[in-house]
Amino acid sequence: MIDPFGRTISYLRVSVTDRCDLRCVYCMAEDMTFLPKPEILTLEELDRLCAAFIRLGTDKIRITGGEPLVRREVMTLFRRLGARLGDGALRELTLTTNGSQLVRFAEDLAAAGVRRVNVSLDTLDPAVFAGITRWGKIEKTLDGIFAAKSAGLAVKINAVALKGVNEDALDGMIAWCGEHGFDLCLIETMPLGEIDGQRTDQYLPLSMVRAKLRRSWTLEDSDYVTGGPARYYTVAETGRRIGFITPMTHNFCESCNRVRLTCTGTLYMCLGQDDAADFRPLLRGGVSDDALDDAIRAAIARKPKGHDFVIDRRTNAPAVTRHMSVTGG
Ligand code: SAM
Repeated sequence: MIDPFGRTISYLRVSVTDRCDLRCVYCMAEDMTFLPKPEILTLEELDRLCAAFIRLGTDKIRITGGEPLVRREVMTLFRRLGARLGDGALRELTLTTNGSQLVRFAEDLAAAGVRRVNVSLDTLDPAVFAGITRWGKIEKTLDGIFAAKSAGLAVKINAVALKGVNEDALDGMIAWCGEHGFDLCLIETMPLGEIDGQRTDQYLPLSMVRAKLRRSWTLEDSDYVTGGPARYYTVAETGRRIGFITPMTHNFCESCNRVRLTCTGTLYMCLGQDDAADFRPLLRGGVSDDALDDAIRAAIARKPKGHDFVIDRRTNAPAVTRHMSVTGG
């Protein structure tokens, strides 16, 4: 599928639930209201939509949320999608998780055909972790990460850079990732959804972080590209990659190859824009495969050129009102 700006759209991110077992301060308010079950697509409906995207040329699917591994029977979906891996169909099936359930699921994920997993971990300090996640236990995530490694999955650690919270601990994370063979990706906070605190208090420009890290590490330019928003370097001292995702200080839209499906069947063509296409009424109204394909093509034809995130210091209003856990991180 080619969008109006000539970009090939081959990557679908699928949120399978808006629920999470953590409440990271930059992501959710403490008392979130979650969606009623009938509004959520069944695993069969999700599989049917994914199959349509694959038919139309999608070759990479990332399962996310909320926390994807807290969705009941989610392995059924992984197994069904895993069966679509192979020539001419799906090239990669992967997930983004907070790692808390990986001890339970790592082997099954590997058996379903998952080869890589992104695990969100903003700090290695148990107290700071508990503070960021509001009630998380770091041991669960660390055990999950090592279960994934033991199951043969390549692990990439995603860390949101937070001013005054983990900014001084990033050197330690680079060393730890190097020691265990994990890549690391640093992310700027984005103004998505109402949260309890002030975004301007959390926002830390990665240009500053990178300059500081260069005092301790040799960051060699890397030509590694994933089609995603990260700019990668190789850390010469560890041999591992480090990526920087800078939606606030750099617009990464030119090479965007992705769209995002929520757990209610709404397709967002851009993380930072509100235009969307709702597939649930079609799925529940008995749509044919041909009509479903046409609806997907029509949505892709509306993909905007890019987003325009601004953290507004006067109002502290989010640029986009839906939370990352709704659109799928
Ligand atoms: N629960 C899974 C996890 O923890 O990875 C998947 C969903 S989570 C929403 C995906 C990623 O989005 C996490 O790495 C999280 O840190 C990040 N995230 C959430 N809200 C964000 C925000 N406002 N700005 C930047 N990253 C955010």
